[in-house]
Amino acid sequence: MAKTQPKKRNANKNTNRKPQQSKAAAAEKNYPVQLGQIVELEITGLSHEGAGVGRYNGYTLFVPQALPTEVVKAKVVHAKRNFGFADLVEIVQAGAQRVAPPCPVYDRCGGCSLQHLAYSEQLVHKQQIVIDNLRRIGGFEIGEGGITVHPTLGMDNPWRYRNKAQVPIGEEEGGLVGGFYAEKSHDIIDIDECLIQHEANDEVVNAVKRIASKLGIQPYNEEAHTGLLRHVVSRVGAKTGERMVVLITTEDFIPQRDLLVEMIVQQVPGVKSIVQNINDRKTNVIFGDKTVTLWGNDVIYDYIGPIKFAISARSFYQVNPEQTEVLYGKTLEYAGLTGNESVIDAYCGIGTISLFLAQKAKYVYGVEIVPEAIEDAKRNAELNGFENVIFEVGAAESVMPRWKFEGVRADVIVVDPPRKGCDEALLTTILQMKPEKVVYVSCNPSTLARDLKVLAEAYEVVEVQPVDMFPNTGHVESVARLDFKIK
Ligand code: SAH
Repeated sequence: MAKTQPKKRNANKNTNRKPQQSKAAAAEKNYPVQLGQIVELEITGLSHEGAGVGRYNGYTLFVPQALPTEVVKAKVVHAKRNFGFADLVEIVQAGAQRVAPPCPVYDRCGGCSLQHLAYSEQLVHKQQIVIDNLRRIGGFEIGEGGITVHPTLGMDNPWRYRNKAQVPIGEEEGGLVGGFYAEKSHDIIDIDECLIQHEANDEVVNAVKRIASKLGIQPYNEEAHTGLLRHVVSRVGAKTGERMVVLITTEDFIPQRDLLVEMIVQQVPGVKSIVQNINDRKTNVIFGDKTVTLWGNDVIYDYIGPIKFAISARSFYQVNPEQTEVLYGKTLEYAGLTGNESVIDAYCGIGTISLFLAQKAKYVYGVEIVPEAIEDAKRNAELNGFENVIFEVGAAESVMPRWKFEGVRADVIVVDPPRKGCDEALLTTILQMKPEKVVYVSCNPSTLARDLKVLAEAYEVVEVQPVDMFPNTGHVESVARLDFKIK
């Protein structure tokens, strides 16, 4: 029995699952291994996706769930010219860093690719990924005379950290189930708890499944495009304990709606907001366009450090609030503000970093491409009484050159781009604006390394701090400090 979705569906899609291939496809190409063949090999490395890497007769195989120094038997499931993928069959000799994954659906879920690796080693692994990328892609020296890459800042307790669950709902033997999609299917594996979710989210999802089953609410059937309840989204303010329940349905009408709401209010302590979102499209996208508040407030509140945030059903908000505080603390430290600086926060989302910086800056300019996020950012600035922040909607690479043209200058520029990294035009603008400092917050070490190489033309990359925002998964977040070097 199982339940809460550990993370967004497909959030970690490729970290722990291996592609499948027909036997004929590989045999035809005369590869050094055959599909279905069981090979014994020693694992010598860990890929950036968290799979063990080893060689069989010189041919590289990726074996998810295998660890360096281990000898394993693995079954080849996919072969390409230069490398292949194999499923772990047996651990002949286990590594000292191996731990028993505590999650009962670890093998099937694919959300956490590193649960079998001791947490202290996960942190070492993530630091090494940053170092490898900076060396290989950025061409940087690391350590003595080069960039200092600090040990990863991890969590004391690397479990139960997620403040948001998005759980698809289905049906089994007449009852509602919710959890995650089984590999390559639309079947939902039911789970009652997800070990990286805040307990509150597990509680909310279980309560909604129980109540909706009792009231005979029909779950959505993805293939037939029938039924009502598609997803339950649960959000919790880690600091405030406030909870939001979002019911995503195919239509406005919910039978026995008032009773449903009443039962949720009774059975979920701390609930402050119950919201319905309507999505009638045939799509994997979770949210539809229409959102209605069924009960209570339309937002819940939470704090990161001293700053208060209003979170609506659809707001982007960092999912690991405890580590977000660590990450933003480092960002603020690297920005080295004294109170007189003009700062730009590019890719600012709902203004979280901007407001952190605004505590110590003269002015902060935030730019972000999603209009709703900027609305939230403005609301959050007001909520906290900040009058020294200016937010603008647009692509950072278009807005920043205009700001420069209009005479905006920046002492510090902070960037926090999505996985694909910064647009080249934005990097050029930074080089032209010549801020004293650049602080680069990154969720992808390879694009970080690529972009730092461009900025290294005028900046010294002094130090990089990896921060573990997603324990037990392969994701690596880091923040880099760059100082202007041509005076
Ligand atoms: N700094 C924020 C958000 C970082 S996520 C935080 O810490 O919460 C990256 C953000 O960049 C997203 O909000 C995304 O919508 C935005 N984005 C993506 N492309 C962009 C672009 N070209 N210009 C500005 N913002 C962009």
